[in-house]
Amino acid sequence: MTDLLDHITAQIHANGPMRVDEYMATCLLHPTLGYYTTRNPLGVQGDFTTAPEISQMFGEMIGLCLAQTWLSQGAPKRFTLAELGPGRGTLMADILRATRNVPGFVDAAEVALVEASPKLRDTQATTLAGYKVSWADTADALPDQPLYLVANEFFDALPIRQFIRSADGWRERQIGVTDAALSFGLGPVLPQPALAARLDDTAEGDLIEDCAQIAPNMEAISTRIAAHGGAAIIIDYGDWRSLGDTFQALHAHEKTDPLTGPGTSDLTAHVDFEQLAAAAPPALHTRVTPQGVFLERLGITQRAQDLAKTMDGATLEAHIAAHRRLTHPSEMGNLFKVIGVYPPTQIPPPGLEP
Ligand code: SAH
Repeated sequence: MTDLLDHITAQIHANGPMRVDEYMATCLLHPTLGYYTTRNPLGVQGDFTTAPEISQMFGEMIGLCLAQTWLSQGAPKRFTLAELGPGRGTLMADILRATRNVPGFVDAAEVALVEASPKLRDTQATTLAGYKVSWADTADALPDQPLYLVANEFFDALPIRQFIRSADGWRERQIGVTDAALSFGLGPVLPQPALAARLDDTAEGDLIEDCAQIAPNMEAISTRIAAHGGAAIIIDYGDWRSLGDTFQALHAHEKTDPLTGPGTSDLTAHVDFEQLAAAAPPALHTRVTPQGVFLERLGITQRAQDLAKTMDGATLEAHIAAHRRLTHPSEMGNLFKVIGVYPPTQIPPPGLEP
């Protein structure tokens, strides 16, 4: 097997057209040729940059939010401090640094990282050297105890299926081979009972996306939080109820064709926050809050001003730009949304109040 295009082409020839979720999972997580298996995708040298890589203030705000929630829930003596899809470990490192001065928090925390990529696990181990960290393959494997969790740009990496509404029902978008290149096509009309509710708010020609892995991930988190206490802060790009094609590829910080060079670009789709919310019971969920509003409520501007006092020149300019990038509605402030999950007996995490 030479590359992922050959592998996918052979699979399509053998089994017929491939669903978008199968394609996405293969491109991202193929054990030897997948995007996350083979590369270190984050940062200037990589394909995309995330909020914690833009500024330390992002992780600081999340850390204080989680620590304040822990305090208001009676400061349980042992808990899991978890992250789903921790990338380079920057966010977790900033959380642990920012909460150093909250008495008891770091000592009580058992850090658990849910990470699929062996390469990124190595990077995380280096970033978090000095802390006791364990890794899990899925959220299901997290211990049964209070759980304080963050997931930033994790759910957008989970495979989605795409359905187009035709005159006589839903047809699934599929990937086939035309003239030795991958191309999109449409499957036959098939009954899709899970999409019945979407007949009310879509019209012929509309495309909707469905992410089957949202529910099991949320269930693993929500049942622990409802039973033992804790909270989850989930941040991603997306909005309430999917509508339209958001399947995209990023390579070297530029959008590319998701079907070109499988395994060489990052594939994502916007997250449907309605699906996250629907899977929150038995825990409660907060309102969906824009990232900019969330960070402002937690005091990011005050923190930015304090940090700015020690800076000048290009460093100061970069710092001001980073603050703006994280919070401004025309940058990440509005595109990215936050939803919190918390126990029925507790108040919502700070920054996510109604
Ligand atoms: N949260 C980090 C990185 C986001 S990139 C940040 O904000 O910088 C997406 C992360 O999710 C990567 O660490 C990737 O390897 C991981 N990931 C993607 N799909 C996954 C899956 N199915 N299971 C576990 N981790 C996954």
